[in-house]
Amino acid sequence: MPPFEYSISHTCSVCGNTDYFEVSKREAAFNLIPYNGKDQIPCSNCGSKEFKSWGGSTPELSKDLFYEWASNENLSFLSQDEDIFIADEKYYDIILELIDDKNTLPSKKQELYSALCVMVYDENIRMEYDNVTSSPFQTKVLMELQKRQLELVKCYVYDYIKDVVYPLIGLDKLQ
Ligand SMILES: [Zn+2]
Repeated sequence: MPPFEYSISHTCSVCGNTDYFEVSKREAAFNLIPYNGKDQIPCSNCGSKEFKSWGGSTPELSKDLFYEWASNENLSFLSQDEDIFIADEKYYDIILELIDDKNTLPSKKQELYSALCVMVYDENIRMEYDNVTSSPFQTKVLMELQKRQLELVKCYVYDYIKDVVYPLIGLDKLQ
């Protein structure tokens, strides 16, 4: 277990030891690793600089972290699949707020729209699993997507998600 509230870690490929380094919540959220390249800190057990894996805490994202992210091209929560990472019902309100915020960068809007589509997609899977035919949450997300169809079509959304989501808001017929 990491000894700090927020940490990053590396695991040595020679001896298997894992070292943890304390970082702030902001550094953890944005994956701002305080060491890299030539400054790489050697394994505390054997001194090797070869690592087989890196890890880090993923903190609950606060509103200010989201706002900072939305207006700064250089910040990302994860290097890949950021949309899937933020596609969580607990972030729904802030996602909508940022989609309509003038300071949100187009590249971040793209991630936000994509996250809403992922939410709809995930709800479909959950409904199937729970054997229910409606989801108030999904209906809510679909209504918001429908209102913003013109912006949505400009965004890149994975085909397998598009195939499920677009017919639900009548967008498939416009494509
Ligand atoms: Zn080692």
